Amino acid sequence: MKAEWELLPADGPTDVGPEGAGLDYRTKVDVAYDQLREWILNGRLKPGQKLDQAWLARHMRVSRTPLRQALLKLASERLIDAEPHRSAVVSPLSLVEIEDLYQSRRVLESMLAEVGAARLSDADLRQMRDAVAMQDKAVRAGDPDRFTELDREFHFLLYRAAGYVRAYDIVQELRAASERYVRYYAIYKDGAAESLVEHRRILQLCVDRDIGGVRHEVEHHVVRGLETLRQIASELATSKTRPDQ
Ligand SMILES: [Zn+2]
Repeated sequence: MKAEWELLPADGPTDVGPEGAGLDYRTKVDVAYDQLREWILNGRLKPGQKLDQAWLARHMRVSRTPLRQALLKLASERLIDAEPHRSAVVSPLSLVEIEDLYQSRRVLESMLAEVGAARLSDADLRQMRDAVAMQDKAVRAGDPDRFTELDREFHFLLYRAAGYVRAYDIVQELRAASERYVRYYAIYKDGAAESLVEHRRILQLCVDRDIGGVRHEVEHHVVRGLETLRQIASELATSKTRPDQ
């Protein structure tokens, strides 16, 4: 994958304009945080890439203090590594983290799927069917971002039906942390078409009220994601992603 970062002007836009100046401090932190998070998740900032704070501050029209706050927030989410007296870098893709996230998701998502499948209302099933239909369109349109969004919707309809708010919150958190890996998955492998086939199978099992089948299929779905990511991580490790600076 070509780093778009390399295509950006070295010193960023020069029009450090009034837009930034009107924002209050809190908003500036949020703006910087949202932007950086997006760049990390979509791969514009590469794993291992050093973050030039002066450039980022200019480019995002924020001063160094809110930028540092945004970086701290990203560090707490393990998206960047920030050590005192050293430049912050985008966290490398980590096999340990992949295992941690996906093994936890495997257990919790299959549990929520099992409980949820028994409690799905007809309205839930209709919404799941709609989500699958829209996924089909996203696959045909070659739109992995839209597919990822609909994937989340599909799974959460099923999991929410379980009514276990704590487990549901944890899964949301684990899935948010997985997002970065899911995007790699979409970039490196065409995983969407395969996921769609599995979603149809899950939906049919839900309609049939085959609770054990739903549990098994959702577990398989998460494990397949894990196996694909293991493969991507090992391919990336051998091709050696190197920071630009
Ligand atoms: Zn899925």
